[in-house]
Amino acid sequence: MSLKDMSSYEKNMAFWSLGKHQDIISFLNTLTQRGYTISDIYDYIAWKSEQLNTEKERRNALKLASLIHQLCPECNAYMFLHSVNDKPGNQTGDLTDKTMWLCQNSNCMNTLYNKKTAQEIKAERGK
Ligand SMILES: [Zn+2]
Repeated sequence: MSLKDMSSYEKNMAFWSLGKHQDIISFLNTLTQRGYTISDIYDYIAWKSEQLNTEKERRNALKLASLIHQLCPECNAYMFLHSVNDKPGNQTGDLTDKTMWLCQNSNCMNTLYNKKTAQEIKAERGK
């Protein structure tokens, strides 16, 4: 590059510091020495991003599940939390009930009523 081209380069690439330029050269040298291409970088970034999203989603799902299930004291199966008395289809005999734990084991069907809302239970468990 001529001196004129150098100043043009510097102007157009000023957001990349000299240190970054050196890092890129080192990076590209390592990349080519180990037989990888620029295309491999794109593939790696896509793969890694996917992996991180999946892991994050998995952790969030586990955290949410731990907030909304418990083990049945009768049979040790999962019990899931359901809202009650908030619409015509889920009325119980006691209108002060806000939620119920329902055992997922069809041979058990243990039901435990709560005076607390799902939000209150989740908030307690989230602490
Ligand atoms: Zn049960």
